[in-house]
Amino acid sequence: MRTLLQLSWFFRKYWKRYAIGIFFLFVIDLLMLWPPHLIGQTVDLIRNGSLTPSGLARTVAILLGLGLVMYAIRFLWRYLLYGGALILERTLRDRLFAHLTRMTPSFYQRRRSGDLMAVATNDIPAIQMTAGDGVLTLVDSLFATLLTLSVMIVAIDWKLTLAALVPMPLLAWATAYYGRLLHERFYLAQEAFGEMNDHVQQSVSGVRVLRAFVQEEEDVEAFRRVSEKTLERNVSVSRIDALFEPTIAVIIGFSFLIGLGYGTYLVFTSAISLGDLVAFNLYLGLLIWPMFAFGWLMNILQRGSASHKRLLELFDEQPDVADPPQPVTRLTSSTVEARSFTFRYPGAETPALRDVNFLLKEGETLGIVGRTGSGKSTLCRALLHQYPVERESLFVGGVPVERISLSALREKIAYVPQEHLLFSRTIAANAAFGRPDATRDEVAHALELAEMGRDLSQFPAGLETMVGEKGVTLSGGQKQRISIARALLMNADILVLDDCLSAVDARTEESILRHLREERAGKTTIIAAHRLSAVQHAHLILVLDEGRVVERGTHDELMALDGWYAEQYRRQQMERYVAGQG
Ligand code: ATP
Ligand code: MG
Repeated sequence: MRTLLQLSWFFRKYWKRYAIGIFFLFVIDLLMLWPPHLIGQTVDLIRNGSLTPSGLARTVAILLGLGLVMYAIRFLWRYLLYGGALILERTLRDRLFAHLTRMTPSFYQRRRSGDLMAVATNDIPAIQMTAGDGVLTLVDSLFATLLTLSVMIVAIDWKLTLAALVPMPLLAWATAYYGRLLHERFYLAQEAFGEMNDHVQQSVSGVRVLRAFVQEEEDVEAFRRVSEKTLERNVSVSRIDALFEPTIAVIIGFSFLIGLGYGTYLVFTSAISLGDLVAFNLYLGLLIWPMFAFGWLMNILQRGSASHKRLLELFDEQPDVADPPQPVTRLTSSTVEARSFTFRYPGAETPALRDVNFLLKEGETLGIVGRTGSGKSTLCRALLHQYPVERESLFVGGVPVERISLSALREKIAYVPQEHLLFSRTIAANAAFGRPDATRDEVAHALELAEMGRDLSQFPAGLETMVGEKGVTLSGGQKQRISIARALLMNADILVLDDCLSAVDARTEESILRHLREERAGKTTIIAAHRLSAVQHAHLILVLDEGRVVERGTHDELMALDGWYAEQYRRQQMERYVAGQG
């Protein structure tokens, strides 16, 4: 029931639809009471021998007419109530999707994507059932029971009615008992389903690694265990389902037994007529459906509330990075500054960056180098405000990042992440992802700058070549270059390149960097890299180690310092030389 209350915002919004639907339902429940009465009357007429052909014809005509009217009205309420439920399903799904797009990386680190999918594909339909079948059965069983009982009491015999109702408290108890069990078990079953989804998702996306490490059989075995668990939990739900109906049938059977036994006695003592007894049993028959429906309603409501709980838990998650109350929406300059910036990932114990200081003026280039795991990517992500950052310690355009609106910040900064992602679309669409309005020439030019020109001419469909599942499989270097073109096309004031040249050869890297310097003259650029040649021309180079800046300066200054940078540079030069010889 609470779920229905929690969904009241929806029912209020579509109150007309629901009001009309429920009204029609009420009309149907009223009309249903007529036929038993007519039949009881006819039986009495037969018994008295006073049934006339014209009287019978009239009764049959009324029954037929009723049938037709009920046919039309049943269509109407079904259309209105089930249609409403489908609207709810769409509304919730849209909301969920919008909510998911607002979430930050730490949310996706905590939540498994298979489980998120399960909420969208399994839980939302369960809630939809609550708003459709749930509302229908609730209203219908209430109306039908009350109306039928009133007619039985008023038109036939109140003692007989009471007697037939004696087993009903049992029904209430059974419903409550099974309902609670069902709720618990259904929640667990949905959880297991989420886990199973997640397993499939990970195995399918990681199938190459799976094969490479010959883990197929282990994975199939692991999947069997997860699916076994899902099966067990669903069977435990079904067990309750299966117990439900027979229990109700037995209880209703008792009602009939009492109705027939006591009713016959009343006919013998002439307290009621035979026709009354026939009508009474027909009315009792009318009660069967609401009783079943009531049980079913509990079932639907319990599932709905378990699912609604899972959905609300998701909706309760707030993004850990959000716009401040009065965000700065216009950035006038493109400086980037860190003032003793220390950063810790949410939930991490040790900081990933400690006491980082630098000031990058408009148009300058910053190089970030350091061994793997030293914090290069972390610094880039912090600049984009993907995670909560310390106040007043990281500045873009002279404003602390936590005071800038997220959309303004992300418009200001174009970012090529280390783990590039292309969508299953054409190359052109991938490159123009951030600027769908870009002309073909602009797209082609950006790809040219990223040194993708030669590769493109080798693809059959050029720019229109499909990427990914349905198209060509691109090499790591090709993906990197398309990602670079995507960022270049944004023509943002600040460009952040996170180790995005690692998979291209030295000569290609050199020409991409040359293009960058030419195209982005006067604009701010940040390059994180392993290959030091990528940052050689930077105005300032930071060498990170375990999150600390251990060396800083221009290329020449760092060479003169003769520390990690100089040593690394000489080694890489040597490697290039050897590679060139070979
Ligand atoms: P690489 O050269 O391999 O790309 P990097 O210098 O970019 O390395 P980062 O990815 O910034 O290194 O990682 C710095 C540290 O932060 C590492 O110790 C890593 O374990 C930790 N770290 C990275 N991402 C997260 C995260 N999402 N949550 C918690 N800790 C993280
Ligand atoms: Mg990195």
